[in-house]
Amino acid sequence: MGSCKEDNGNLPNCLWVEGPIIVGAGPSGLAVSACLKENGVPSVILERSDCIASLWQQKTYDRLKLHLPKQFCELPLLGFPENFPKYPTKHQFISYMESYAKHFSIEPKFKQVVQRAEFDQVSGVWRVQTQNFEYVSRWIIVATGENAEPKIPEIPGSERFEGPVVHTSGYRSGSEFKHQRVLVVGCGNSGMEVSLDLCRYNASPHMVVRSTIHILPREMFGLSTFGIAMALLKWIPLRLVDKLLLLMANFTLGNTDRLGLHRPKTGPIELKNATGKTPVLDVGALSQIKSGNIKVMEGVREITRKGAKFMDGQEREFDSIILATGYKSNVPSWFKGSDFFTEEGMPKTPFPSGWKGENGLYAVGFTRRGLLGTSADAFNISRDIGGGFGCPGIPFFNLSPSITPVFILLFLGSDFFTEEGMPKTPFPSGWKGENGLYAVGFTRRGLLGTSADAFNISRDIGDQWRALRDSNLQR
Ligand SMILES: Cc1cc2nc3c(=O)[nH]c(=O)nc-3n(C[C@H](O)[C@H](O)[C@H](O)COP(=O)(O)OP(=O)(O)OC[C@H]3O[C@@H](n4cnc5c(N)ncnc54)[C@H](O)[C@@H]3O)c2cc1C
Repeated sequence: MGSCKEDNGNLPNCLWVEGPIIVGAGPSGLAVSACLKENGVPSVILERSDCIASLWQQKTYDRLKLHLPKQFCELPLLGFPENFPKYPTKHQFISYMESYAKHFSIEPKFKQVVQRAEFDQVSGVWRVQTQNFEYVSRWIIVATGENAEPKIPEIPGSERFEGPVVHTSGYRSGSEFKHQRVLVVGCGNSGMEVSLDLCRYNASPHMVVRSTIHILPREMFGLSTFGIAMALLKWIPLRLVDKLLLLMANFTLGNTDRLGLHRPKTGPIELKNATGKTPVLDVGALSQIKSGNIKVMEGVREITRKGAKFMDGQEREFDSIILATGYKSNVPSWFKGSDFFTEEGMPKTPFPSGWKGENGLYAVGFTRRGLLGTSADAFNISRDIGGGFGCPGIPFFNLSPSITPVFILLFLGSDFFTEEGMPKTPFPSGWKGENGLYAVGFTRRGLLGTSADAFNISRDIGDQWRALRDSNLQR
């Protein structure tokens, strides 16, 4: 990194960055930095807070555990320690992030709030301004996350309420709400888990459920529901998988309709893919709803001085209000002069193609697919900038074997497959798509078809592999 302008008291110092500038040191920023490093590309991470993974360290509740089993949440190139449980706690996840940064010698620049970033058409570089420096590079990687700022809804009368109003980003534990009547606004994973946590401290949570919601058990028959869905998707069409999931969910959880939790008409995975709305994975809140410890309330009409009036005409008093209303991206507030992002700060081009813009612009972690999406983006970006499928490190092949099939599944955003999830080109040519996409076992010819595919794919990748290795050796 070199200085390109002297500080004259008014202008910020200007620093030339050799590799890409990464904005944000959450899991996405760390993952892409690690993958770049493996491809021999240096980078500089600018982080507004004073630590890595600040969302996890500073804005999550104490009891939080990963919602998905660990194999679906690991970052590229370095998996979780083997002795971690299936669903690591937030503290274990943070310690994994810290070891990850240490392993790849990633040292973000902390307390650097990116206030503006813009492509300079004249000099063909990105100018990234923080409160005390201007960083300049050919590339910028936006890694500020889908959850950069709390979403605060406008509820009539909120300003009148006399008790505390806290967003879940400021909620740590129910111990602060012992024996209180608490209004929890929102019924996603956070709303459910916070309500459950409140029950453990003898508080009386009233959870507002405004719209329809899919609740699935976190596990079915001892297996992770997400894992089951991923496995089924390999073999049967998405809508059928949704039907099976709902059938099994009704079997294990019962009919949620009669608890005031109405399911959307669209199935859970189809809905997630279309709108990004994540199904709730139940870890115990539902049984508290059944036993009446968590009360389900219809939408809030208005907040009063001492409580709330609801859409169904009821009025209740509350000591505190917790807003489990989610988060939003902050990209529009600082990223200027490009139409790559929507007004909501998400890439306009959806997954799996939303990782690359123009003039050296990249985005990682805006896929609505959690940490799995992050891995896919990080891999694509490092390959694109490093130019090296086949360079030392080869991130794709360093993913753990458990994650690799899912990783391939996530690429089904291309038009290679039919709606039924079969290759459009029939046997014997349906084994190869574009951009390194392959499919094995979709031949309707049983294991014989699988053998033919496996042979073709290994020969094809092997040829490319040898060609890349040879060209690397000649460099
Ligand atoms: C309660 C909760 C539980 C979750 N559980 C799971 C799970 O089990 N599995 C899963 O896959 N996903 C889960 N997620 C989703 C989770 O947010 C992501 O998987 C992960 O944290 C995303 O990483 P990220 O780096 O993209 O974003 P973040 O973790 O949000 O990191 C972004 C970083 O950018 C920094 N930043 C923002 N703006 C600026 C700026 N202007 N200048 C400089 N720095 C900036 C932030 O301080 C932050 O450190 C969960 C999310 C929440 C809120």
